[in-house]
Amino acid sequence: MDVFKEITELRQCLKNYRLQKLSVGLVPTMGYLHEGHLDLIRDSTKQNDITVCSIFVNPVQFNNLEDLNDYPQSIEADLAKLKENGVSIVFMPSTSEMYSIPPETVINFGIKGEIMEGEFRPGHFNGVGLVVFKLFNIVRPDVAYFGQKDLQQLVLIKRMVEDLNFDINIEGIPTKREPDGLAMSSRNAQLNAKERAIAPKLYAALLNGEKMLMDHFSVEEVLSKIDVFFKSNKGIELEYFNVVDVEKFKILDSGHPRVQVALCVAAYIGGVRLIDNIIVEEK
Ligand code: AMP
Repeated sequence: MDVFKEITELRQCLKNYRLQKLSVGLVPTMGYLHEGHLDLIRDSTKQNDITVCSIFVNPVQFNNLEDLNDYPQSIEADLAKLKENGVSIVFMPSTSEMYSIPPETVINFGIKGEIMEGEFRPGHFNGVGLVVFKLFNIVRPDVAYFGQKDLQQLVLIKRMVEDLNFDINIEGIPTKREPDGLAMSSRNAQLNAKERAIAPKLYAALLNGEKMLMDHFSVEEVLSKIDVFFKSNKGIELEYFNVVDVEKFKILDSGHPRVQVALCVAAYIGGVRLIDNIIVEEK
């Protein structure tokens, strides 16, 4: 396994692989790797000759300095996991390597980037767009892997690739969960024991909402019952709980949806912001 910190070295190595007609999969991460990340890695190593995993805590996508500074890191453990799972190349650039000058280009994903994460984390998707665009240009992968855990990010990147003719397949990988249902996330490590015990309630709320939709409750009824659920659960500070039309990626606020919908949630548990979602099975 090669570990590169510099773009030119990585590009040179990948150029040699491309001359040998080897396929390249890319898995962008911010490190502190868990089994969810490793699912993406394993899909890539199965489907490609070469897997590149990037580890970069991208400051431009953090709208809160404290959140950036608190983001967990564990480089040695990450490298061991990547080696064990057959990764060929790890790319872990410094911030100055990725942003040698402050970027002036702005990535605007349009209307789908303005709701949910876009609304509550201003500038977040511009940062995501910049780093993903840069990684695509640096690595030029055949396939790039993203988790459905960050559903809005996955939707926006798929659309960017289509709109801008990137010659890259985007694979969306299902969310890996802890046995109690909590979606795996590097941020879970920041929860104390009490908060960790509360955290699975986010998934419980999603399942609850799903069941109500399956039982033909209207969107209004679902939202009002979920509202009561969160108000009666101390320790969870809800940012949003939305029913979303997956195809249009639009928030639905009433009626009985006849389209495929996702339920998306974001909440603070203590000082830790968690997000999760499920795609409701079609009726
Ligand atoms: P992150 O390091 O949080 O930026 O995540 C890197 C990639 O892993 C993103 O595409 C995430 O959507 C994906 N990911 C994070 N958590 C999970 C999970 N629990 N299951 C599947 N994919 C995940």
